[in-house]
Amino acid sequence: RAKLDGRNNYAFYTESMTKQAAEQLKLQTALHQALVNEDFYLMYQPKVKLSDLKPNGFEALIRWHDTALGQISPAEFIPLAEKIGLIWDIGLWVLKTACLQGVEWLTQGKTFERISVNVASLQLQRNDFVDKVRSILLETGLPAKHLELEVTESCMMNDPDAIIRDLKLLGAMGIALSIDDFGTGYSSLNYLKKLPIDKLKIDQSFVRDIPHDTNNTAIAKAVIALGHALNLQIIAEGVETVEQADFLRLNGCDLVQGYLYSKPRLPQDLNEFLPTIRNSNLPNEIKVK
Ligand code: C2E
Ligand code: MG
Ligand code: MG
Ligand code: MG
Repeated sequence: RAKLDGRNNYAFYTESMTKQAAEQLKLQTALHQALVNEDFYLMYQPKVKLSDLKPNGFEALIRWHDTALGQISPAEFIPLAEKIGLIWDIGLWVLKTACLQGVEWLTQGKTFERISVNVASLQLQRNDFVDKVRSILLETGLPAKHLELEVTESCMMNDPDAIIRDLKLLGAMGIALSIDDFGTGYSSLNYLKKLPIDKLKIDQSFVRDIPHDTNNTAIAKAVIALGHALNLQIIAEGVETVEQADFLRLNGCDLVQGYLYSKPRLPQDLNEFLPTIRNSNLPNEIKVK
């Protein structure tokens, strides 16, 4: 009986594999086309200072709407883009679009600290990444002090010395750097000590159910203490409840991001997070350009 079942399962398995492969292929083709057509857009999620709830900046998050396939999550298509070699071009599109948005806001007299852009490890692996970032800043006119890059721990998997060198170059340009999803990846305290970064982002999996989940509570506290001891700012992502926010504030977390404050929004819906400067003069950095 077991054998028969096994055979049936095998037949079922290959059939579903073929179907899955066909789905993947369809998605790949659509992703290529989306890049050509620029079918992507960015949503921006506010980050706020926990002490006074003043807006601090935004994280740019890519969205893809395909006419046939519908809305596809970045959690699905970013890993695919990495696999099929599209992440470099998509990453440059995101960076350029976010920088242009930042310049538009500044030109309108709207103020914000930084826009942060997610950078896939594969982008950092390329030795022309720093040059590309520099030229996009020049081309768009966004001052480096308004840009932040979010990298993950996995960027240190290959040639950490080269990565550290490049991150230092980016930092020297005035770009802020944060470690995204901190604690979920390839962590090494040795690297953390060497990395020229400004912020740690506590992953939302550790923010979930605090203060009720005692493990997560302990981890969140420890990350805040570790980060502060290393002179880093701490930001918590995925904050959904007042209880989470109260706990994080009590424990000295600097910044928060999550549905409690705002979901990711379209640029035109962000005015309440974009204070306008009092006199209508354009900021110097834009005028000078
Ligand atoms: P991430 O960088 O860790 O971004 C945070 C994710 O959490 C976003 O999902 C955001 O919408 C979601 N989020 C924010 N607040 C809350 C909350 O309170 N509760 C819950 N449950 N979720 C919250 P999203 O936009 O679907 O992006 C998923 C992941 O896709 C990102 O995780 C990032 O790794 C990747 N991604 C998104 N945009 C880009 C991009 O432009 N480039 C690259 N390389 N990766 C991107
Ligand atoms: Mg991120
Ligand atoms: Mg994150
Ligand atoms: Mg995350």
